[in-house]
Order: sequence, then structure tokens, then C-alpha cells
Amino acid sequence: MERVSALPFPASVYAARLERAGALAAEAGIDAVIVGPGPDLRYLLGVEGDTIERLTALVLGPGFEPTIVVPRMELAKVRDTAAGELGVRIADWVDGEDPYALVVDALPASGGRIAVSDALPALHVIPIGDRMDARLELATPVLREGRMIKDADEVAELRRAGDAIDAVHRRVADWLHAGRTEREVAADIAEAIRAEGHETVEFVIVGSGPNGADPHHEVSDRVIEDGDVVVVDIGGAVPSGYNSDSTRTYVVGSPTAEQAERIAVLVRAQQAAVDAVRPGVTAHEVDAAARQVLADAGLGEAFLHRTGHGIGVSVHEEPYIAPGNDLPLREGMAFSIEPGIYFPGEWGARIEDIVVVTADGCVRLNNAPHALASVG
Ligand code: ZN
Ligand code: ZN
Ligand code: ZN
Repeated sequence: MERVSALPFPASVYAARLERAGALAAEAGIDAVIVGPGPDLRYLLGVEGDTIERLTALVLGPGFEPTIVVPRMELAKVRDTAAGELGVRIADWVDGEDPYALVVDALPASGGRIAVSDALPALHVIPIGDRMDARLELATPVLREGRMIKDADEVAELRRAGDAIDAVHRRVADWLHAGRTEREVAADIAEAIRAEGHETVEFVIVGSGPNGADPHHEVSDRVIEDGDVVVVDIGGAVPSGYNSDSTRTYVVGSPTAEQAERIAVLVRAQQAAVDAVRPGVTAHEVDAAARQVLADAGLGEAFLHRTGHGIGVSVHEEPYIAPGNDLPLREGMAFSIEPGIYFPGEWGARIEDIVVVTADGCVRLNNAPHALASVG
């Protein structure tokens, strides 16, 4: 019987990603890259899971075959990934053996410049460094290149995630009522995130009234009141591991004239940043487009954070759409556009869509209505 692969993409996709990582390392003058569990390993081989005290690490680089060092108890799991399908050399170890010696064995004899993925913990980085003459450096500039530019299949997965989270936002009016707590509303939303096609719920923020003024407030037992402005920022991962992340701002009943006016400005600021996106424009310039609209309306001080972040197999990744980031945008980059305005002790609002850079602009992956929505 043919084995049904759990991998979201054919093995050839992972082969190409591995080869590209090797080529990017060569270009950067790096002799080997050591990749720990986390988004980079998920991207390169479809290996799930986060780091544990037992070392799992992929060693790759220009001019040599990659090796994955893995605890024997994880062997079956790793064989079920692209590592197995591609026949990546496996060096397994059992408790009592020295996994760091296996890493050193997998490195090219010449030594040279060795880079580690940014999710590899100090717990493993220090012992690896102790066994080598080379100074370890960060592999981020090498590994981010591949992940930052999404191919058509990845964009399709992000679109699937975007559609699923839009479907949840379209149902928020069913659950968001005066007299319920943020936590109760969030529980209904979390259930819908799964029901609409996500495999995991990554976060549910329901920031009502003054809680909305804290950009990273999650949920509380605060009882939602009539007249509250409510920030709902939600996301999850679809089965392929790609994430959604979208924010809409709601009002229970009617907003004050000032709230309506300020949120209308926010919607324009978000649109201005979306309109600014195209290849060659810098991340800084996109951020500035949103910031300018808010500043012109006297709301510059109320915008406390960057305009956005990249998204893919992790919720926050490069490119960061932030002041001072002179990275030029390229076709295939996917990131959020999420300006917000925050009035401490009073209320807050944020509007967030994921966009993907196209040849001459961008496409939005979130299309639920942007304007302040009144719920009963
Ligand atoms: Zn955040
Ligand atoms: Zn968000
Ligand atoms: Zn976000």
C-alpha cells in the first residue's frame, strides 16, 4: 500500500529548499549551517516540534551532503518527514552518547565559518561551540532568504488560512455582546478558528474598552459593556503549518463621534500602507505611509508599534515593516499591515490584513469588511 505523506508539499519542494539554503550559505561565505527545531526546520524538511533538551539538528552547507542528528526515540517521526523521503543522512544517538560529537562529524573537515539557526537554544549552542575552533555566528541572514519569499504553493496555503480567519471574523457578531466576558467570547472564537479550517489556534485577543488600549492584551474576565470598542485579533495555523493573523475592531452598540472619526482615519492609514506596497519600495516606506495618515490627523502619538511583520510557518518573521528597515520589498513577500491607535485607560483600535507582494503591487489575503462594525 502506498504511504500517504503528511507533508504539505511534495518532497521535491524540500529538496529545492535545502539546495537553496546551501547555495545561500555559499554566497554568504558560510561553510556550514546548524539548524535546530522550529520554523526553519519545519520550512526546510517539514520537521514539526520545538526544541527539547535532547538535541535534534540539521547540518547543511555548500559542497557536502546534509545530516540530521536526532535522538533515536525521535527517529520514526523524523523518517516521516522530508528527511526520510529525500534520504537525508541520519545520525541518531541514545541517552548517554554525545550528540555534539555527531554534529562535529557532520561538519566539513575544513571548519571555517559555522552558523546556527536563531531558534537553536544556548543549551545546545554553547556545547557545540566548545567542541570547535570556529566562532559561531547567526544563520538568520541565510535562512530568512528562503522563508521570506513565498512561492505559489505557500501563497495558496496563506490564502487558505486568510479565508478561514475571515470566515471567523464574519461570525464575530454572533458572540460579541454586552454582558459576556472577553474570555467567553474568546472561547467561542477559538472553537470557530478550528471549525473554519485551522488545525491550531495560535492566539485570540479580545480587548474590550480600556483593555483595547493595550496592544498585546489577550483576554480577561472583564464583562463587555454597551458602547465598548473591542479589538479582536485572531490567528491559527492550517494543517500545512502556515498561519493566519487578522484584526478587526468592533463596537458594541454605537461609537462616540470621536471614536467613529478616529477609526475612520485608522482605516485610511491601513489602506495607505497597503497602497504603498510594491516591489522596490522599502519596509520603512510602507510603515511611513500608515504613520503619515495618522500623524496628519493628530494621531501619530497613539500609534505605538511597527506597521507589520512577515508571516509564514511562524506568525512573526521577516520582513518586519518597521521604521528604519530599509529592506526593499520583493515579489512573494507576505506580511501584515496592522496600524493601531491606543488611548490608555480609554480604548484602542487596530486593523490588520496579510498582504502578498505581487509584480506591481500586492494582494490582500484578508477581505472581511474593514470599517468599524457595530454588534448588538
Ligand atoms: Zn504581536
Ligand atoms: Zn494580529
Ligand atoms: Zn500581526
